[in-house]
Amino acid sequence: MMLDPSGRSMDYLRLSITDRCNLRCVYCMPEGGVEWKPHSSFLRLEETLRLCSLLCELGVRRVKLTGGEPLLQKNLEWFLRALHRIPSLEQVTLTTNGLLLADFLGRLGDGAPSLLAGINISLNTNDPAIFAKMARRSELLAVLDGLGRAKSMGIPVKINCVPVRHHNESTLVDLAGLAANEVLAVRFIELMPMGVATGLEGIPTDEIMALIESRFGRLSPDDAKIGNGPAVYYSLPNFKGKIGFISAMSHGFCSSCTRLRLGSDGFLKPCLASDTGLDLKPLVRSGASDDEIKEAMGRLAASKPTGHLFAGSAKPGPNDEDRTYKGPVGMYGIGG
Ligand code: SAM
Ligand code: SF4
Repeated sequence: MMLDPSGRSMDYLRLSITDRCNLRCVYCMPEGGVEWKPHSSFLRLEETLRLCSLLCELGVRRVKLTGGEPLLQKNLEWFLRALHRIPSLEQVTLTTNGLLLADFLGRLGDGAPSLLAGINISLNTNDPAIFAKMARRSELLAVLDGLGRAKSMGIPVKINCVPVRHHNESTLVDLAGLAANEVLAVRFIELMPMGVATGLEGIPTDEIMALIESRFGRLSPDDAKIGNGPAVYYSLPNFKGKIGFISAMSHGFCSSCTRLRLGSDGFLKPCLASDTGLDLKPLVRSGASDDEIKEAMGRLAASKPTGHLFAGSAKPGPNDEDRTYKGPVGMYGIGG
C-alpha cells in the first residue's frame, strides 16, 4: 500500500499515454503544438505496462487513460486489453476529446463496455463557432458522433467543460441542458492556471451555478457517487442527467486526493500541480528490479503534498533539486 503521512492511500492512477493532441484548446496546448522530442524520451507501451503492474501491486485499483489525446496512441487497444490482465486492477476509464472515439469504439466492438467502465468527453460548448475558436479546429460534429456512439453502447458518459471568460461563457447554460433528456453528467471544471492557461480567466463554480439556476431551477445536492473523482453532483427539476462541478480553485479537495500521475515521459507525479516527482525512465532502462522500482514509487507517494501548488504548498524543498519536474507545464503533458 502507498500511504502518505496524512493517511491518504494512493489507489488511483491517471496515466497520460501521449502528450500529442489533435486539438489545440486555448487553455491547454500552445497553438503551434508541442516541442518535438525523440521516441527515446517516452516510455514504450511495454515499459508503461510494467510500471502500471507494479503500481497495482502497491495498491492502485483504478486507471484513467488520458493524455494529450489518448486515442492518438496507435496501440491503445492492445494496451487496454493488456491492462485488463493485471489481476488486482478493478477499473479502466478514458478521458478523450472525442474526435476519434466513434472509430475506436467501433474497433473494440461489443466488448467495449467491459473494457471501458466509463468515458469522459471534453466538450466546452455546443456552438460550432465557439468550439472552433476554443479548440482551434472545427471538429464539433466528430465529437458529438463519438458521444452518441458511447451512449448507444451503454457506456457511462460524462461531459467535461472548462468555463473560460470571454470564450464559452455564453453557452454554458445550453451545455448544461444536454443533461435534460440524456442520462449523462455535464461537469464544469474550474480553469487551473498552468502553462498557456495562466493568461486566461476562469469562471468560478458559484457563478455557473447561479447561471444554471436562473434558467433551469434549483440545483439540489445529489449524493450519488458517479465515478472516482472529486466532482460534486446536483440534480435539476425534470432532468434525467446530473450536473457536476470540479472546483479545485474555489473549493479545494486535496485532503481526499488519492491520485498519482504517470506521464508518457515516465515521470511519476504525486500531484497535478506539483513541481516534484520521480523520473522512472532511467530506473526502468538501467535494469532496476521490480522491488527497487516499487521502493522508489512508495517513497514518491509518501511525499505527496498536502495541498496543491496553486495554494502554495507543493513547491520543491531545498534538497529536492534531483526530483524537480522538468517536463511540460501544460495540462496536455500531465493528463488533466
Ligand atoms: N485530450 C483529452 C481531453 O481533452 O479530454 C485528455 C487530456 S486533457 C489534458 C484532460 C482534461 O484536462 C480535459 O477535460 C481538459 O479540458 C482539462 N484541462 C486541460 N487544461 C486545463 C486547465 N488549464 N484547467 C482545467 N482543466 C484543464
Ligand atoms: Fe488536447 Fe485535451 Fe489539451 Fe484539448 S484539453 S488540447 S483535447 S489534450
